[in-house]
Amino acid sequence: MAEVHQTPPSLCCCRRPVPASLARCGGDSSQPSAVPGPGSSRCPLVDVASASNFRSFQLRHFHLDLRLNFAVKEMTGWLVLDLVPAKPGVQTLILDSHPSLLIQSIDCKVPEDGQEELVSLTYRVDPFTDYGSSLNISLPAAARPGRLVQISVRYSTTDGPAIWWLDSELTCGQTRPLVFTQGHSVCNRSFFPCFDTPAVKSTYSATIRVPDGVTVLMSASRSLYSQRDRVFQFSMDFPVPSYLVALVAGDLQHVDLGPRSRVWAEPCLLPCAVRKLGGSVERWLGVAEELFGSYLWGRCDVVFLPPSFPIVAMENPCLTFIIASILESRDFLLVDVIHEIAHGWFGNAVTNASWEEMWLSEGLATYAQRRITTEAYGDAFTCLETAVRLDALHRQLRLLGDNSPMSKLQVKFEPGVNPSCLMNLFTYEKGFCFVSYLSQLCGDVRRFDCFLRDFISEFRFRSVVAQDLIDYFLRYFPELMDASVSQREGLEFERWLSGCGPPLCEPDLSAGGALTRPVQDLCDLWRRGGTPDPHAVATFDLSAWSTLQIVLFLDRMLDLPPLPHGVMAALSGCYSSLFDGLNAEVQIRWLQMVARNGFYPELPRIRAFLHKHTSRMYTVPLYDDLVAGAMKHVAVEIFDQTQRRLHPNLRRTLTQILSQTSAAPTNQNGPAPPVTTATTGTTAAIALRNVNVSA
Ligand SMILES: [Zn+2]
Repeated sequence: MAEVHQTPPSLCCCRRPVPASLARCGGDSSQPSAVPGPGSSRCPLVDVASASNFRSFQLRHFHLDLRLNFAVKEMTGWLVLDLVPAKPGVQTLILDSHPSLLIQSIDCKVPEDGQEELVSLTYRVDPFTDYGSSLNISLPAAARPGRLVQISVRYSTTDGPAIWWLDSELTCGQTRPLVFTQGHSVCNRSFFPCFDTPAVKSTYSATIRVPDGVTVLMSASRSLYSQRDRVFQFSMDFPVPSYLVALVAGDLQHVDLGPRSRVWAEPCLLPCAVRKLGGSVERWLGVAEELFGSYLWGRCDVVFLPPSFPIVAMENPCLTFIIASILESRDFLLVDVIHEIAHGWFGNAVTNASWEEMWLSEGLATYAQRRITTEAYGDAFTCLETAVRLDALHRQLRLLGDNSPMSKLQVKFEPGVNPSCLMNLFTYEKGFCFVSYLSQLCGDVRRFDCFLRDFISEFRFRSVVAQDLIDYFLRYFPELMDASVSQREGLEFERWLSGCGPPLCEPDLSAGGALTRPVQDLCDLWRRGGTPDPHAVATFDLSAWSTLQIVLFLDRMLDLPPLPHGVMAALSGCYSSLFDGLNAEVQIRWLQMVARNGFYPELPRIRAFLHKHTSRMYTVPLYDDLVAGAMKHVAVEIFDQTQRRLHPNLRRTLTQILSQTSAAPTNQNGPAPPVTTATTGTTAAIALRNVNVSA
């Protein structure tokens, strides 16, 4: 998953058996379909209503049969779960659900008993948290360990957190409506009742019925379309957790990029998307396979979504979802798509068993992404990109304070906390630093590549905890186990995982010096106070810089205290027209400087930018800065003029921002409290501000 610009801090009834080759990992019918590793008992999974009983069942497969009604923004149909009780005496099945999901009836049959007729089951929906409810289903007496039970849930769902209905004016083409789902982290319980935990994986299939002219795509390995019936059939042949089930339906067309990759987009976007990605996806896949072993998912397609897509990108297996706004910047597009490709190994094939250890997916995927960019684009590019992100990590740390529980790799949260609130840069970058440290310990990056390849091979299609990775690492490198590397003073593995604060060590980025040094030199020139010598400034040719260099420069300038009007005027004179012709990643940062410093001469550019851009990643940070500074009235005026073109969810967020009177306070140093609903509310608000991160 790639986050928003300013880090939050974001399936024919063919019941195919899991391929025999996967049986050892997830398809053995004598075992639950995905068993968390040996350390799983340490994961209380308080975010899952079904936590108390999902280990009592093996979920073999599920099937969705849904009709999409764009006129009333509703999905109706049924879900069929193929479950095998794993223990005797299990009388209740508890699934995660959501108040936006209306259950009409629940039936069951036990085919292996010769009982083919449906038996109606009683059920009850209980409140659980503000992001879900608990669906309790009484099982029939015939449900016994080892025997398949098919539970059919007839239901409808409208606009829960997972489902984003876009009226046609919110699409790029503005001719047809579009709907997409976004399951990460715990949203898919509003899409279909499920064991909404990454600890449980299964195969799935789906039948989706839509009106004429609508194309449906899902995160599935196979698809079929019957024009006569207007029905799309999907099958995901590999076990996936609930959050990786994804759907998009609208006016979508495709162009093949290679034998296993194609790009999908609305027709008006497609030529640009093909031009920007053509030739690259297969190349990146090839590099990734060299490093980490075969790509396991068959297809590697990419679908570009309208600006209402709430994050930058999502690693839905076989079909990456990515926001169309990112097409403007080559550097960010390639980093984002490579990151999602890396999830094909790290996150999707091997998954964190609990959201409390999200770093296992994101830290490993970020490390893998940088191994791929190092091979494809060199050390210097990768070090520059890493420098931008580590800068942002330290910015977030300054805002949260060294003792924030959000800065732990292993977060412990209490009941009621929405795991989505815990998505932050530590998950990515502190996780990356820990993985880099492990690589450094083994002394040879290529040996570490082999370790990662074997780790994937060992655990593929399973969900693991951090201890599984560490135990495997120490078994793989016995000389490191003998040297007690996990206990090295100040760098203890336990301290990496459960300590607050910055990474215990960071990788050497000196290979990026030729790209980052001029950036720092230029920052130093501007930060000396007063207007710098124009001749000195002119020695830096920003038109020859990459997007990432300019972004690093602007991020570091944004870290400075308020700048005098004269300095802003000089910056504007030097760079404003250059930035105006560059991509949105550059423009947003310059305009944030304009807003924070109340530099009115550049106000027309802010207006033009916010009239053009309607994505969360480019609006929320700028509105935040306008409201926190002297230009709140301008924000109110622009919002009044543009709100009809914004998705209702974004409209709500911006309305909240506009109702603020001052910036959120930063954390005080003190003992680290547990992560509760109250603390995540505050810290998420802080995490959203001033971080300046893309991808
Ligand atoms: Zn990710």
